Amino acid sequence: MDLSLTKEEAAFQREVRDWLRRNIPRRERKAEPAEFGDPKRIIELKNWQKKLYEAGYLAMGWPKQYGGRAEPYGDRRDLLMRQTIVNEEMVKARAPSIIGMMGVQMVGPTLIEFGTEEQKKRFLPTILDGGEIWCQGYSEPGAGSDLASLKTRAELVGDFFVVNGQKVWTSNAQFADWMFCLVRTDPGAPKHKGISYVLIDMQTPGITVRPLVQMTGDKGFNEVFFEDVKVPRQNLVGELNAGWRVANTTLSHERNMLGSTTRTQQMFQGLLHVAHTTKRNGKPASTDPVLRQRLAELAIRVESMKYHSYRQLTDLLRGRSPGIGASVNKLVSTELNHAICALAIDILGDYGVLDRKSRHVVDRGIWPYEFMFTLGLIIGGGTSQIQKNIISERGLGMPKGA
Ligand SMILES: Cc1cc2nc3c(=O)[nH]c(=O)nc-3n(C[C@H](O)[C@H](O)[C@H](O)COP(=O)(O)OP(=O)(O)OC[C@H]3O[C@@H](n4cnc5c(N)ncnc54)[C@H](O)[C@@H]3O)c2cc1C
Repeated sequence: MDLSLTKEEAAFQREVRDWLRRNIPRRERKAEPAEFGDPKRIIELKNWQKKLYEAGYLAMGWPKQYGGRAEPYGDRRDLLMRQTIVNEEMVKARAPSIIGMMGVQMVGPTLIEFGTEEQKKRFLPTILDGGEIWCQGYSEPGAGSDLASLKTRAELVGDFFVVNGQKVWTSNAQFADWMFCLVRTDPGAPKHKGISYVLIDMQTPGITVRPLVQMTGDKGFNEVFFEDVKVPRQNLVGELNAGWRVANTTLSHERNMLGSTTRTQQMFQGLLHVAHTTKRNGKPASTDPVLRQRLAELAIRVESMKYHSYRQLTDLLRGRSPGIGASVNKLVSTELNHAICALAIDILGDYGVLDRKSRHVVDRGIWPYEFMFTLGLIIGGGTSQIQKNIISERGLGMPKGA
């Protein structure tokens, strides 16, 4: 693993840093919870994504004909390095989050691999510039960890699928334009073999979105009901009844997205700030021996996670498959993010649990908010237990549990 930047990469890093300094809205520099529900905020974040894409800093590893940056920066290896530099600089600069992440990181790469040319032409441009936002219709009331048990039915009638059923925990469905959705197209087949992957326009008649309130108080995810919803046959991705493979490709991209090391590093920097600026017995909390021990333990976990991600990057650069790396990332980073928030709250004491609306709130209430939000991410995208099953069975070759 070579950890040093080449001369060209170091110059690129300076260019990105400079661009971010000039382009991030001033008020964004303080970390704040991702309040996606607010329509004004949604527009702001869409504009930010467009700006980032137009500057050439988003999805750089995508093929050029689909909006990636094969030129002027040369080959894919080079682009992967440059995308890593951009991601790291965005964290350091406290750039706003990318609202169309599920498009850019999940359905976009899946369409590049499995989509028809028409689907790529139709969907990829607006995925990149934030013009259309996507949501993920996988989970159902009886199908979470055991996703293949899903029951939402799609019957092929002429040139359309007619969809009936219900999804649940669908993040961002309340403002998404499209859903990538798993439906059962052959109820008679073994459960993994009768599933298809379809793209559904959220404005289609027969769709009802009912928001669910999370413990953060936000309405971040939803129940989605389908009643005789007509979906054009050309919105099928991959082969009919072969959606399980397509679904798993998206899931692997999702785990990498949720397992972002940059977000964890940003949170840890925030924790250090809390430790240095909060007083304990008249001195900065960071000088307390017990807290220092806990900070050191987290620092070690953050560093080892960072090096794990570099090792994965090296594998990618050398054309090797990362294997179960995506599950390791997801497991480690989501658990770690939650532990970082827990320590920040401990350091802040009573102030650490104040509601965001309180006038005494510290850091605009980000710590208790993120403490609750990160708990959700330990569950979303496949729970920690499921990641451990994947790592032990597929990675370590241990026997399958009963
Ligand atoms: C914040 C958040 C956002 C989400 N966003 C989306 C979204 O946008 N789209 C979407 O489709 N879904 C979404 N989900 C749903 C998520 O994918 C599921 O909640 C998750 O897969 C777990 O399924 P479940 O809730 O049905 O729990 P269950 O599968 O019922 O699991 C309950 C408990 O049993 C454990 N368990 C289950 N099976 C096993 C096993 N084989 N071995 C060991 N332990 C096991 C689990 O780890 C868990 O602790 C989201 C969830 C959250 C929390």
